[in-house]
Amino acid sequence: MKLLDETRDLIKECTMELGLPETVYDLLHDPRKMLCANIPVRMDNGKIKTFRGYKAQHNNALGPYKGGIRFHPDVTFDEVKALSMWMSLKCAVIGVPFGGGKGGVVVAPETLSKGELERLARNYIRATADILGPRVDIPAPDVGTNPQVMGWMVDEYNNIVGKHEPGVITGKPIPLGGSEGRLQATSRGIAYVVQEACKVKGYDFNGLKIVIQGFGNVGGNSALLLHEMGATIIGVSDVYGGLYDPNGLNIPEIMEYLKEHKTIADYPKAEKISNQELLALECDCLIPAAMENQLTAENAPNIKAKMIIEAANGPTTKDAEKIIIDKGILLCPDVLANAGGVAVSYFEWVQNNYYYAWTEEEVNKRLKEKMVKAFYSVYNFGTERNIPLRKAAYMLAVKRISDAMSLKGWF
Ligand code: NAD
Repeated sequence: MKLLDETRDLIKECTMELGLPETVYDLLHDPRKMLCANIPVRMDNGKIKTFRGYKAQHNNALGPYKGGIRFHPDVTFDEVKALSMWMSLKCAVIGVPFGGGKGGVVVAPETLSKGELERLARNYIRATADILGPRVDIPAPDVGTNPQVMGWMVDEYNNIVGKHEPGVITGKPIPLGGSEGRLQATSRGIAYVVQEACKVKGYDFNGLKIVIQGFGNVGGNSALLLHEMGATIIGVSDVYGGLYDPNGLNIPEIMEYLKEHKTIADYPKAEKISNQELLALECDCLIPAAMENQLTAENAPNIKAKMIIEAANGPTTKDAEKIIIDKGILLCPDVLANAGGVAVSYFEWVQNNYYYAWTEEEVNKRLKEKMVKAFYSVYNFGTERNIPLRKAAYMLAVKRISDAMSLKGWF
């Protein structure tokens, strides 16, 4: 997979520029542990169907492995590996005591009944339980999974170990030990990053014209929060198509429309555009919040945004990034911009460990502190050295992980 190779290349570049021994790259270029499982599920028709599942544990020098479980038909082992690497980097950048992990199942969850989805979630946990634990590996939701799926998963884990272990999974429903503010955490973190990026670039956040690709948990909530905070969302899309209004879209109404129609593409009160047209819109800020590989060498020359905040993981290819940087666009990388989710997952884990229940205000305040601190540590490191922010974030993260590995005597 191209993104996996590109991640490895950048990690190698960083280790060399940081003057770290080659062993550091050897330790980081692949996950420490990988698991591939054939997961049987009894379907509603009584027949057994098997699903391919993966788990990657990249690095745990800074703490237990942490990362979401993705249910999507295009999941591959390489994708799960790359995502686990990004989690290691993300946890180091945002400063939470976790390493990087990830899980995935090759499945289109919308094709399953509720019962089938529950049995798949439970059986994924049975297949991986040996390498999970609140001090070992702590999954969370990702694309195609949600708090309900986490609820089944934590219950299955508790059944296996015979005790109550809410800290084994984050992103749980609130009655099961989930944290206030977790559902919107990634999006809230994005919004804080947009605000800080405006400050350093001297743009007015009020009325900032924003385009968002993807209208799921991250994209939809980012649109809503940014709209509520005073920005103007002029373009949004989902997999079926995009919407445009140069005067600003009514995001709360589009959220309501989505609940009823399962897609925003046919919302009647806006101009319909394709996803490619959306990416090329004249705007101040573009937020890719859908999937990997959306900004490519083919469409990057058409981008007119002044800044790009990566809400999705890996939305920009290496070739596209070069074009974007050359155009003078500020590109805020995924490992920084979307780290709000894992920051609040960390808060959830802390609350589970100590039986605390913080208010949403408390969670949001702590999230803002973490995001703002991480933003300036990456931004200042990058501007002082005149390097792109992705490279700055990777260098900071690799150094932190390398220091931890060295102190543990791994090299
Ligand atoms: P989701 O499944 O809730 O939403 C994905 C959205 O993208 C949907 O609206 C879908 O229609 C749209 N989409 C999919 N393919 C598309 C395409 N080719 N063109 C345009 N739109 C497309 O997923 P999510 O949880 O919102 O995650 C989105 C991204 O954010 C992923 O890269 C994920 O890894 C990343 N992320 C999520 C979290 C989290 O807390 N959920 C945290 C960090 C990063």
